[in-house]
Amino acid sequence: MAQHGSSSSSLPMIGEGDDELFLDGSESGWVEARTHCDHLDSLSSDLIHIPPPGTPCNRCQHPDENWLCLCCKDVLCSRFVNRHMLEHYQQQHHNVALSYSDLSVWCFSCDAYLDAQVIQALRPVYETAYILKFGNAPPFRTIEHQQSVDKETDASSGK
Ligand SMILES: [Zn+2]
Ligand SMILES: [Zn+2]
Ligand SMILES: [Zn+2]
Repeated sequence: MAQHGSSSSSLPMIGEGDDELFLDGSESGWVEARTHCDHLDSLSSDLIHIPPPGTPCNRCQHPDENWLCLCCKDVLCSRFVNRHMLEHYQQQHHNVALSYSDLSVWCFSCDAYLDAQVIQALRPVYETAYILKFGNAPPFRTIEHQQSVDKETDASSGK
C-alpha cells in the first residue's frame, strides 16, 4: 500500500543537498608485505655469502631477474620465465625466495611478499643483496607503527 502523505501543511524540502557518495581512499591494488611469516625455519644459516644478482638460472640459464632461494641459495627463474623457482618450491618445499629484480622477498607458503626490512631474519640477506646489486647499503626506513605509504624513494637518476 502506498502511503499517503499525512496531514502536512507545508511541502517538505526535497533538497537532499549532500550526496553521500562515500569515497573511501582504500587502494586495493597495493598489496602490503607481511611483517610476519611462520616459514622462516628453513632459511639458510649463511645468507651473507650469496650468489650475485645476474647469476643465471641454475636450470635454464635464464640470465636475469631470477630468484634466490633463501633456503639453499639456488638461483632460479621466475614464474614468468620457466617457473623454475616455483617448481623448486613444489619439489623441495623451500618457501622463501628473494627477487634479484627488485629485492622483494616472497613466501610461497604465505603466498605473499614479506617485508625484509621488518622481519629480522630477512634483513641481513636483503642488505647483502642490496649491496651486491647497488654497491651501497640500503637506506633502511625507520620502522614505525604507522607505515607511511609514500614510495618516492626511487632514484630516477640511476640509468
Ligand atoms: Zn610464510
Ligand atoms: Zn630457469
Ligand atoms: Zn632451495
